Amino acid sequence: MTVTRRPLIAGNWKMNGLRADGLALAGALAERMRSAGDAGFDMLVCPPFTLLAEIGLAIDGSGIALGAQDCHEEQQGAHTGDVSAAMLANAGCRYAIVGHSERRSAHADTDAVVKNKASAAHKHGLVAIVCVGETEDERDTGATLSVVTRQLAGSIPDGASASNTVIAYEPVWAIGTGRTPRTDDVAEVHALVRDRVAVKLGLGKGRGEGEAQARATRILYGGSVNPSNAAELLALDDVNGALVGGASLSGDDFWSIAERSL
Ligand code: PEP
Repeated sequence: MTVTRRPLIAGNWKMNGLRADGLALAGALAERMRSAGDAGFDMLVCPPFTLLAEIGLAIDGSGIALGAQDCHEEQQGAHTGDVSAAMLANAGCRYAIVGHSERRSAHADTDAVVKNKASAAHKHGLVAIVCVGETEDERDTGATLSVVTRQLAGSIPDGASASNTVIAYEPVWAIGTGRTPRTDDVAEVHALVRDRVAVKLGLGKGRGEGEAQARATRILYGGSVNPSNAAELLALDDVNGALVGGASLSGDDFWSIAERSL
């Protein structure tokens, strides 16, 4: 398999953005993307559910992809307040983030739930961005690699492949704190992620196929990425892009981060 791992720079707007701000941000990014021609990276924005349709129109034709911050496991039914992968695909999404640490902690999304959500995303043609990462206590007690191994084993569904799955390594203690791990720590976890992905994606298909899939899988780093630290993080071998929270709310900062992936 040819390895094409074009960097993916994904913006998770979280619960931010009223209509005017969101449209201004998306419009500015779309304009930059259009005038860049081939920017050399893939860009994704994940606005709140309320803005998906309108942001989809604002970025249409720019090459920027639209994604959601979560999806429900089921396709439809009595799930008040939830949004299904089928609905997201229907609204123009190409990606869905699943297992973000804020969903894992505030909404009790277990690995099993995350796996079902990723599976639902796949079923409706969405790329699932599966998030994993350790808490500060887990890092301090030397449990990072075992936690990430367990999360990956429990959260990646059967049927996952390099084309329908992206992994985001996001240490919980680095999200929104301005703190980042040392680059050798990031490199160590990303190498582990690729190795575990090879095992998971090779199940029943053979080791060679698993390794080929893992080589082609994009593994993002997330947690306090900004224009000043992006180049160093994105230069690491197994880092194939970034999942950006706070800094994705500024068009200039988000664009600068993306440029540092080249
Ligand atoms: C995130 O929430 O996915 C994230 C990485 O946030 P921040 O960049 O603000 O740390």
